[in-house]
Amino acid sequence: MSLHTNTAFLHLVILCFPLALTLTIANTKPNCQSKCGNLTVPYPFGIGVGSGCSMSPWYDVNCDASFAPPRPFIASGNLEIVSITGDALRIKSWVAARCYDASGNITRQNRVLINITGSPFAFSQRNSFTVIGCDEQALLNFNGFGALGFTSGCISICSDRADLGAGDCSGVGCCQTAIPKGMQLMNSFLGTTTGHVSVWSFNPCGYAFLGDPTSYSFAPSDLADPGFQNRTVDNVGLVLDWAVGNQSCSEARKSEDFACLDNSDCVDSDMGAAGYRCRCSQGFQGNPYLSPGCTDVNECETNPCDENGICTNVEGSYACSCKKGYLGDGTRDGHGCIAKSSEFPVIKFSLGLSFGLLAIVIAMTWLFVSVRRRALINLRQKFFKQNGGLLLQQQLSSNEKTMKSMRIFSAEELENATNNYAEDRILGKGGFGIVYKGLLHDPQQVVAIKKSRVMDESQMEQFINEVIILTQVHHRNVVKLLGCCLETEVPLLVYEYVKNDTLFHHIHNSGGMPWFSWGNRLRIAVEAAGALAYLHSAAAKPIIHRDVKSPNILLDEYYNAKIADFGASRLVPIDQTMATTLVQGTLGYLDPESFRTCQLTEKSDVYSFGVVLAELMTARKPLSNTNNDREKSLSTFFVTAMKENRLFQILDPRVLREGSLEQLQAIAEIVKRCLKLHGEERPTMKEVAMELESLRKFSRHPWIQQQVEEESVGLMNGELSDLYTISMNSEISMGPHNSGTTPLMYPREHTEN
Ligand code: ATP
Ligand code: MG
Repeated sequence: MSLHTNTAFLHLVILCFPLALTLTIANTKPNCQSKCGNLTVPYPFGIGVGSGCSMSPWYDVNCDASFAPPRPFIASGNLEIVSITGDALRIKSWVAARCYDASGNITRQNRVLINITGSPFAFSQRNSFTVIGCDEQALLNFNGFGALGFTSGCISICSDRADLGAGDCSGVGCCQTAIPKGMQLMNSFLGTTTGHVSVWSFNPCGYAFLGDPTSYSFAPSDLADPGFQNRTVDNVGLVLDWAVGNQSCSEARKSEDFACLDNSDCVDSDMGAAGYRCRCSQGFQGNPYLSPGCTDVNECETNPCDENGICTNVEGSYACSCKKGYLGDGTRDGHGCIAKSSEFPVIKFSLGLSFGLLAIVIAMTWLFVSVRRRALINLRQKFFKQNGGLLLQQQLSSNEKTMKSMRIFSAEELENATNNYAEDRILGKGGFGIVYKGLLHDPQQVVAIKKSRVMDESQMEQFINEVIILTQVHHRNVVKLLGCCLETEVPLLVYEYVKNDTLFHHIHNSGGMPWFSWGNRLRIAVEAAGALAYLHSAAAKPIIHRDVKSPNILLDEYYNAKIADFGASRLVPIDQTMATTLVQGTLGYLDPESFRTCQLTEKSDVYSFGVVLAELMTARKPLSNTNNDREKSLSTFFVTAMKENRLFQILDPRVLREGSLEQLQAIAEIVKRCLKLHGEERPTMKEVAMELESLRKFSRHPWIQQQVEEESVGLMNGELSDLYTISMNSEISMGPHNSGTTPLMYPREHTEN
């Protein structure tokens, strides 16, 4: 086969392969030769004309073994196949030429006509018609499917070789023109205007060829190169489109011999005629025309995922995920895989920030609490100083005895003891403040805490001295003052807790409890009188109670009398709004003489005690809500009744029943003496105590004795008896509780034990 033949006329059959098909895949029919020389021939092409290895005779490849190595030609024609790549078949091009002598006579001429009509092939639009020369007019006649004719061409001229530019094919020495689609016959004509006379020195020949322009680049030297034709035939390929069948995809799918097998797509031919090609679907590979069709591509073999990803192959695709310890979508193009630890900075930052903020909040709170605490401590220290705390401390340190008997409580300790002065801890409210029940923890002890309303600073020293004296008072019938707290705005006084309410309550509210017999009333009177006498006489300087009244006589668990608020009226300022007077004391109990003179003496206490005694005998309140002036005040009422000899008419019926008339008369006489208007006419507390005690021993009426015995049997079974042993030796002393003193009375159970 020679390029110098006049015409190259042939029928040829070409294969275009799907993009996904790689030549490494065995894709020829069984028992068919797969290679011709260096060229692999895939189905529907097949080597050997009439060998049956192709889909149809158009796809036969004639492998001419007379060449070494053998050369492949389309069917029985002379178009030599260069390559089968992608969807195109590339064949060797043909170059038309015409050469002149210096006078413009033609010395040589090749015309090219390529005719592939009737085949399933057409010239691809990827080709261009290229003309080389400085005096050339080339024409191109085409015919295609449906016998449509088309003529095209271009003119290439130049006058000076210096005008030419390498790679420039825009009409100066080189021109190019596109071709329409579906063309199957090409006939090229070369013509000239002047027969190259003016340019002959550097361009004796003109050339024209149809081929892939990307494989040719114009060089000015080509114009005078005698080897141009052969070089171009070898290097420039002519691209042919192809299709199978003569139907569109939609039509072919219905027919039995539809060529596209499994996992492949059908693509309609774009050659301007019916026909289609098959192409492996995305993610599949193989030969779509050969059984079993396209097979899955194991994309994971090429590791398409991130280096820290895991690739999982699925039919037609693959999936990426991340290894343990990594986060992300696992793809190379997407988020990839990021080590979890690399997120830690964010987490660490967030955690750090949170902890930082928390630390700041805690620090601020701590600062706030510390400042408040400090302020509270300062305030408490201020109150402590203000309330004479330093003076008290000084006194305590100089007197060991005082130190033992008295305690200075901290504000916090008492707050804890009273559950922060809770409402349910209130025992009662009096003229000077509120009394709370408290529980001390070290040592465990129930106490009564008296919180005054206001404090008079000018009396501070006196107050401290009184507290010290009163804490040293030890008498079984006096409520013990345990200590005080000076860290609060008003000082707090801490007393021993006395369980069974006040004498006032039992006289007026308890509704005649069995234990509240005349005998027990008399015993309480003797105890109270003894305690008052002790305080009037036992200390170096008499301690005047100033507020003797039945609400200030408390009863302990054995119903023993306990005088409360001894001297307390001097420890706390007077609240004018309450039922108290300037000389202190409670209306109804107040000594009229001291009221007049504004002088309080021991005899004021005697008067008040007389009222309590009258209260015990008559069970009447010291002040009654009556309009009768004589009956309003118990003292006036009692003294008047005595004068009018009506004593037994005003006595409490139980007292009358249980006491002997002589005894009652004698005690009433004591009351009368206590209630004398002039203090000096009144007996002393000691006299009162002794007289009362001797009268207690006064024999009773036999019928009353019998009744009392009956009652005491009942009381022995759980209640307190009014039968007590009495010691006449009622000496009282200042000193530790009960030490050196003989109790005035004991409950019967005690003496028996
Ligand atoms: P005054 O203020 O004139 O003394 P008051 O005796 O009625 O009047 P407070 O001494 O303040 O008032 O007492 C109020 C109440 O608290 C009393 O009625 C009593 O019930 C209770 N109380 C006082 N001291 C104690 C105590 N040591 N143990 C148990 N309860 C007490
Ligand atoms: Mg009181």
